[in-house]
Amino acid sequence: MPNQDAAEALQGSSTCAGPMNGKRILLVEDERPIREMVTFALTQDGYQIDEAEDGTAAEAKMAEHLPDLVLLDWMLPNVSGLELLRRWKRNESMQEIPIIMLTARVEERDKVDGLNSGADDYITKPFSVKELSARIRAVLRRGASILDDQLRVGPLQLDSKAHRVHADGQPISLGPTEFRLLEFFMSHPDRVYTRTQLLDYVWGRNMYVEERTVDVHIVRLRKLLKPLECGKMIQTVRGYGYRFSATQ
Ligand code: CA
Repeated sequence: MPNQDAAEALQGSSTCAGPMNGKRILLVEDERPIREMVTFALTQDGYQIDEAEDGTAAEAKMAEHLPDLVLLDWMLPNVSGLELLRRWKRNESMQEIPIIMLTARVEERDKVDGLNSGADDYITKPFSVKELSARIRAVLRRGASILDDQLRVGPLQLDSKAHRVHADGQPISLGPTEFRLLEFFMSHPDRVYTRTQLLDYVWGRNMYVEERTVDVHIVRLRKLLKPLECGKMIQTVRGYGYRFSATQ
């Protein structure tokens, strides 16, 4: 199936190269020559590449900036690619990010392990840059339709793709953190989250941020939503954390 997708994408690549430009890809690969080759080729294609040589570096990059797609080598020093894959697919803020496994192994069992653990595709080494590029395009295109979804809670409407928020049709301008916070709340309404959970989901598990930071951004977000009568949607749950709800 992935091969068919790849072939289709390859055919279409001359006409639809544009929309993928500027997408950020995290490349996790310990072999420098492969890393350099892939980075060079994908940069030519218009992607922005973050490189990591192992799991620790990859998690640091993830915490800095969530990528649109991850290319993840299977055999890595210390923590394996499969372990990283499982870890990220369990993490709520990362589980939607498509992952393509790069593997030197050809055994069917390993591929099944990878796909069962949530990999979106895999590519066996040695691969051609052209094939890799086609796979990336196919995976990103598959994800695009899902990401079209608009989030709606009460009068609020959030478009993740266009980075826009409206309340009763009126645009609201939010900073990047307030936007991510609201996006998280709107996709998880009527549930209570502790400050630690919000830090994990919105800021990323590997960021060191004080819990007080959450309160600061909640105050800001409430202030921005207040003129639109939406400020009370973010409710403080004493001794626990916060809840977002359309029922004020
Ligand atoms: Ca390797």
